[in-house]
Amino acid sequence: MTLASDLRQIAPGVFAWRPRADGVWGLANCGLITSHGDAILVDTPYTPALTDTFLDAARVAAGHTAFNRVAVTHANGDHTWGLQQLPGAEIIATRATLEHQCLEPTPQQLFTLCHDADPNQALGWYVRRHFGRFDFSDIQVLPPTTTFTGRLDLRVGSIPVELLEVGPAHTVGDLIVHLPEQRVVFAGDVVFSGDHPSHWAGPLKRISDACRRILALAPEWIVPGHGPLMTPDALRDHVAYLDDLAEQAALLHAQGLTALEAARVLLKEDRYPGLALPERLAITLGTEFHHLREDSSTPDLLALMTQAAHIARDSAAPASPAA
Ligand SMILES: [Zn+2]
Repeated sequence: MTLASDLRQIAPGVFAWRPRADGVWGLANCGLITSHGDAILVDTPYTPALTDTFLDAARVAAGHTAFNRVAVTHANGDHTWGLQQLPGAEIIATRATLEHQCLEPTPQQLFTLCHDADPNQALGWYVRRHFGRFDFSDIQVLPPTTTFTGRLDLRVGSIPVELLEVGPAHTVGDLIVHLPEQRVVFAGDVVFSGDHPSHWAGPLKRISDACRRILALAPEWIVPGHGPLMTPDALRDHVAYLDDLAEQAALLHAQGLTALEAARVLLKEDRYPGLALPERLAITLGTEFHHLREDSSTPDLLALMTQAAHIARDSAAPASPAA
């Protein structure tokens, strides 16, 4: 696929790469931090081809620095499946991300799903619509080579870089990248901007607490995992959304609704207008209800995606003609 994207400088030596497509899955933001000939990347795009687009822009911005370090915010493929384009690079992540990686769908599974799932069924229709644009055919998943728990302090040239573990939140092993002197935080998928998030670990309280931790760092800019850059005020609005969603989830769960039914209630109310991908409420509420039920089993990702697909297909279906 061809993709419009740009690499925007947000502070001296700090760049955010942002695909120019909203309301779709899989197009994650990435980062470049560079100083005095040294550099670190934050995440890679979903596929090797997209990663080459990012790396071309990053090499120009960094003055052709060889990239030999990547900080990975979490294990989802849309942040890690380009790592093979950086052979030999040190891949830094939390220990929980390394341990969690085996639970992620593989590129081969996603390739098969996009090609074999029945397009007349909700899931097949939905995965083709959102993932059919990506080439998953030749991707090798690389594990982190350096892991940590809690906090890891690095230096890139003259820039101090703090990697802070905030998971479990979006996934089991999330980290954020804090640049205290540049006052920038790369938040990974702990923060989504413009879209409803899809949170796979939770509970929501852990995610809003991670957002509050970001706000306590007093950044000027927050680079979310997806969507436009955020100011602290925009992140405060997002925290209010997360807190309200947690409250609604507890209420609707107590009333005996399923997560899918709860998602449909909130969508019918139009409780969160202006956010794209509303069907993802089924996923985030699915994981939240898992916690509310005190269910210790691993959530079934495909079942959650299927529920989101049903909501999306129902809202995309043309209205039946009046009798
Ligand atoms: Zn993502």
